[in-house]
Amino acid sequence: MEYDYIVFGGGMAGASVAYELSADARVCLIEREASVGYHATGRSAALFAPSYGGREVRGLTRASHDFFMAPPEGFTHAPLLTRRSAMYIARENQGGALDVMVAEIRRSGGVIDRLTMADALQAVPLLRADYVAGAAIDHDAHDIDVDALHQGFLRGARARGAQIMTGAGDPTVSRRDAVWRVDLATGPVSAPVAINAAGAWGDRVATAFGAQPIGLTPLRRTAVLVDPPFGVDIMGWPAVIDVDETFYFKPDAGKLLISPADETLVEPCDVQPEELDIAIGVDRVQAALRLDVERVNHSWAGLRTFAPDRAPVIGFDPEIDGLFWSVGQGGYGIQTAPAWARTAAALAQGRPLPADIAAEGLDPAHVSPSRFRAEQPSLQRLAQ
Ligand SMILES: Cc1cc2nc3c(=O)[nH]c(=O)nc-3n(C[C@H](O)[C@H](O)[C@H](O)COP(=O)(O)OP(=O)(O)OC[C@H]3O[C@@H](n4cnc5c(N)ncnc54)[C@H](O)[C@@H]3O)c2cc1C
Repeated sequence: MEYDYIVFGGGMAGASVAYELSADARVCLIEREASVGYHATGRSAALFAPSYGGREVRGLTRASHDFFMAPPEGFTHAPLLTRRSAMYIARENQGGALDVMVAEIRRSGGVIDRLTMADALQAVPLLRADYVAGAAIDHDAHDIDVDALHQGFLRGARARGAQIMTGAGDPTVSRRDAVWRVDLATGPVSAPVAINAAGAWGDRVATAFGAQPIGLTPLRRTAVLVDPPFGVDIMGWPAVIDVDETFYFKPDAGKLLISPADETLVEPCDVQPEELDIAIGVDRVQAALRLDVERVNHSWAGLRTFAPDRAPVIGFDPEIDGLFWSVGQGGYGIQTAPAWARTAAALAQGRPLPADIAAEGLDPAHVSPSRFRAEQPSLQRLAQ
């Protein structure tokens, strides 16, 4: 079958770009696993916080807000966002970090308010008053219905004619006459442009196309669910994030989600939580919160995959014709997905950035994979 684009990866990155591209192009999405969303996309903490992440991430998150609030007709029946503010807390010796973070968020067009200690303790009454010395709040944060968003993109892409193929394994790829050919068990598919949306596997997929890896780092992050203290209603609590991101916690369907905010470098894999990380997360949260964790109800880990500068990677490979990157979503691939996908689709189709995304200060040069190649001549060029 012939297409205009073959998308590699059926997580949030692949599903969302397939949705955008299929509005006016023939798209085939290939997922290696038997089901989509098995890796990072199915393992997130489901937070939308416009204050969270670096400059480009914050801009893409703000530019995604309208889509989340009012998705296209028929996209989903569930609300994609439910209000849940995000509160950053600091101990006495972290006060400087809070000042820097607040100033940086405001400088890049974000909104964040300082809180008095009384307000912070009112928001989360079980916070230890002798632990927290400073707080700031992002009132525009929300919980995301990740599954509704992911399924909305996939359903929408199918309705626009896209093919979604799961269980593809690692197919062989070849290029002839400016067209990629991918040999699947069900037969070959071809397209002039391949979109690399393979998350932690992004460098491996790129290598299969003959491109240089950019040095993606898959970092393991652990999360656990515990019971809230008996008789305490936590559902109105904000998400609470340590200003240096050494832990966070948030209400999650009647439980308290805790993370040590770990970042352990691992090979791309079906990553599992480590007992030590679970213990560290519980310990750090108990230091800040009057909470006795007697048992962990559920634990999991996922890979947050970053480019070397932790900014998004969106754009054509500078050396391999017809290979487009959409990777490096890090810990923000859900909250940025709508605007990230519109950015990727525009650049892959040779169109300018959508005006609202450009207005958020996103510059294609800052997200292009070319930024990693300045001093590294490609193997292909060296061979010539
Ligand atoms: C604990 C945790 C908490 C998080 N919390 C948040 C949060 O609150 N908010 C937020 O916005 N983000 C959060 N994230 C980050 C978010 O989950 C990721 O940024 C996002 O899911 C990345 O999506 P993806 O599609 O790039 O990756 P993935 O979902 O991993 O998808 C990549 C897909 O590519 C497939 N693939 C690999 N190789 C091939 C191949 N050769 N051919 C075809 N397919 C291939 C894989 O099987 C996989 O399905 C969190 C992540 C973790 C782990």
